[in-house]
Amino acid sequence: MTLRLHNTLTGTKDVFEPLEAGRVRMYTCGPTVWNFAHVGNLRAFLFYDLVRRHLRVSGYRVTHVMNLTDIDDRILDQAMHAGTTIADFVQPYAAAFFEDMDSLRFERAEHYPRATEHIPEMVDMISTLIEQDNAYVADGDVYFRITSFPKYGALSHLDRAGLKAGARVATDKYDKESVSDFALWKKAHPEDEKLGAAWDAPFGRGRPGWHIECSAMSKRYLGDTLDIHAGGVDLMFPHHENEIAQSEAANHKTFARVWLHSEFLSDATGEKMSKSAGGFTTLRNLVAAGHDPLAIRFFLIANAHYRARVRLSNEALHAAGEQVRRLREFADRVRRTAPAQRDDAQLAEKTEQVRTGYREALDDDLNLPQGMGLVFDLVREANTALDAERMGPQNKAVLEALLDEVDAHLDVLRADEPGLAEEVERLIAEREDARKARDFARADQIREDLKRRGIALEDSKDGVRWRRLIEGARS
Ligand SMILES: [Zn+2]
Repeated sequence: MTLRLHNTLTGTKDVFEPLEAGRVRMYTCGPTVWNFAHVGNLRAFLFYDLVRRHLRVSGYRVTHVMNLTDIDDRILDQAMHAGTTIADFVQPYAAAFFEDMDSLRFERAEHYPRATEHIPEMVDMISTLIEQDNAYVADGDVYFRITSFPKYGALSHLDRAGLKAGARVATDKYDKESVSDFALWKKAHPEDEKLGAAWDAPFGRGRPGWHIECSAMSKRYLGDTLDIHAGGVDLMFPHHENEIAQSEAANHKTFARVWLHSEFLSDATGEKMSKSAGGFTTLRNLVAAGHDPLAIRFFLIANAHYRARVRLSNEALHAAGEQVRRLREFADRVRRTAPAQRDDAQLAEKTEQVRTGYREALDDDLNLPQGMGLVFDLVREANTALDAERMGPQNKAVLEALLDEVDAHLDVLRADEPGLAEEVERLIAEREDARKARDFARADQIREDLKRRGIALEDSKDGVRWRRLIEGARS
């Protein structure tokens, strides 16, 4: 089977092949650590997680770099208001980012470089651009000269007709209406010194603009040419155009061979959710409102294809929680059920079909929602077979293999707290002993204690089973 990915550069789903056989170099734009991560950004970050997991499932060795932007216009602003340095200001938000990543079960990237720790690399690249006349100094700032890079705008299909030579924009974020020479370096102001946000450079003391960090840090960790560069669609212009211009002008090589962009998360009105628009929702808000991080993870990666907009709502998160619960219960049931003597031919055929279909869906531009549709069909059929005690030993082995394959992407089946399963099993055994000794008060107490911790017990013909209650059911 062949992996196809939708490349924004070509506008088509192309067969993916890395430059070096068996190894993928991937760069993904990370968070600006000026606040808690917004769920809109988390959708993009979870998309990166899906990409890297599928590449690994497909047999590639992945070197994944995700930057932490710890200096930009907003951070300077906020640190100034807080009366602290930028380093002190971002510290708790950088820590919170990794906590959020962990609770959403992101696989760690190989490198998380921080902008302020790579100033020399940025200064080098800016010096090269100045020497080559791709950049110039104006009033102590350094700007990239976009007329010097004829491909500027190719990624976002920008109409270059309106480009005015020499027009400049100093802000890190701007729209297509203000396409202009953009800042690589900003002259140090007295307040920047107090914030710990000024560095020496041959072209004057100052601080880097936002865009140069990705060009400089990707080169440092992955070389001149990346196999994959991914980001949210909101970064395509100007950020990714600027990255391409800086890197290709400086290195004279293709910067990224494949560009992947994930769509917005929208709010109830269908608008893009964003901090600046006031629709501020963090992972922490959602968890505090009773949503399980696993349900949030499932919703963000499996409910809609990454190139489709998806609307965040309580109902959608509850539905995702229910799907996670069904899948976990099914996996649990398969694991605990002793197989019948003979295999069921129909179940065997269906499971193989779904296994193939699931892999094909993932290889088709990471279509996890389509793959999950197939899996849930199978769950229905297999539950019927289990009710009728028709699951044979081979059936069981293949179902378990499929669930492992699915969980390589989802990572929701083995997501219990460490030691929880053992502890619950011990309490179930203790409850059984209490019942045998006719100490029903003790048995009931164990059941109630577990329920308070979000664990439900069910007596079945296969013995006592337990499952995690998902949000709201813990009263
Ligand atoms: Zn970037």
